[in-house]
Amino acid sequence: MSKDKQFVKEITPQQEDFSRWYIDTITKAELMSYSPVRGCVVLRPDGYEIWELIQRELDARFKETGHRNAYFPLFIPESFFQKEKEHVEGFNPELPWVTEAGGEKLEERLAIRPTSETMIGHMYANWIQSYRDLPVLINQWANVVRWEKRTLPFLRTTEFLWQEGHTAHEDEADARRETMQMLEVYREFAENVLAIPVIVGQKTPSEKFAGAVDTYSIEAMMRDGKAVQAGTSHYLGTNFAQAFNIQYLDRENKQQYVHTTSWGVSTRLIGALIMVHGDDRGLVLPPKVAPLQAVMIPIGPPKTREQVLKRTDELFAELKRAGIRVKVDDRDQSPGWKFNEYEMRGVPVRIELGPRDLDNGVVVLVSRVSGEKRTVEQANIVEEVRKMLEENHKLMYERALKFRDEHMTDVDSLDEFRSFLEEKRGFALAGWCGSDACERQVKEETGATSRNIPFEPKVRKSACLVCGAPAAHTVVFGRSY
Ligand code: AMP
Repeated sequence: MSKDKQFVKEITPQQEDFSRWYIDTITKAELMSYSPVRGCVVLRPDGYEIWELIQRELDARFKETGHRNAYFPLFIPESFFQKEKEHVEGFNPELPWVTEAGGEKLEERLAIRPTSETMIGHMYANWIQSYRDLPVLINQWANVVRWEKRTLPFLRTTEFLWQEGHTAHEDEADARRETMQMLEVYREFAENVLAIPVIVGQKTPSEKFAGAVDTYSIEAMMRDGKAVQAGTSHYLGTNFAQAFNIQYLDRENKQQYVHTTSWGVSTRLIGALIMVHGDDRGLVLPPKVAPLQAVMIPIGPPKTREQVLKRTDELFAELKRAGIRVKVDDRDQSPGWKFNEYEMRGVPVRIELGPRDLDNGVVVLVSRVSGEKRTVEQANIVEEVRKMLEENHKLMYERALKFRDEHMTDVDSLDEFRSFLEEKRGFALAGWCGSDACERQVKEETGATSRNIPFEPKVRKSACLVCGAPAAHTVVFGRSY
């Protein structure tokens, strides 16, 4: 990585080059740095703190739904991967291997985990004996490695941070209930925490997780019209139970295989929230995961400085006590410079305080989302900042939803889809007969893949967009990251 790529003077406008805009923004805002290892990025404190806040919100939801955290090893013996045929075929091309350690060649190669179904399956086989041991509801926060060919900071990296839930159940109905419950947790989290509207649905067989019976996803639209798969929840049937011999004695004293699920989201969510909300001035962070929710900037001439600073500090203490993530920037820089700086960093609320405001007992709040300036009583500062944070979240969600609706159409043929992508970019709802061949043809001719089969499509189509045969499903297609 050359030095000039790490130091960005101006952010490239989104319309000019969206990818350039993205890289400019995340570098200038100091969310990440490229590392010397291909495809691996460093999460700098502002980037990592977004992840910590995402973790905090999700972890609370996982605990609320009865899950507990555990930790499993990073290294997985090769023989584990051979046990589930589809799993090994799917993951083999992306696995890095440890073949030597401590100066000796290992008897069995160890994979660096790309996901932990195999290791956890092995352990569950030891832990689960009877129906009384079920369900097992465990989540792991960890790093995983997938040797990706194409990489992009946050969205697709070689090593990434994630959570992976792994549960075991007595029967299919219970496991399917869990799969849907966690999908719903992801939807609610994406919308209520990240302000990202998502399309909830089922993956087509060619796009499902290697080893799953059914894969479900939430899909989001970025501001260039491309899709990001923001989270997945898998019903694994008894595939891993059979491969790892996870059996239990049921209520009739008969041996049965457990039904398992897994579900995950990753640091990809950081990339998604940047691409959904950012604008030409830089980041726009959803208030619930913004490391800094409000910045206070004292203004005015040197002779009133001391007085202004004193009052700023008092109000700062009040906001902090109320649990708002806030700081005062009293550095020796012009207010204008600071305004630009915090706009670029996506801080949701700016609080300005000058000598005249001091006399009037007011402060000025400025919203990063709408640009609205609001003069409010100092006495109400906590409620007013909270109110603006809430409004920002709502505005961001509505803006993203409007953008998605404007960039989503329904099409009857490949030709129609192609011209939509040329003119407008975005997603298309189309009928699909269910054959792999037709799905492949869509990809070859448009570069778009099936995102999912939405549970609630706006329209239902009756014929396949490729072959014209009766549609088995209505599918969302889009180019994706
Ligand atoms: P999977 O285990 O393949 O279902 O992946 C779970 C989630 O991890 C996906 O829904 C993605 O959001 C995320 N993910 C998969 N691959 C990557 C990657 N290379 N970098 C970042 N996130 C990823």
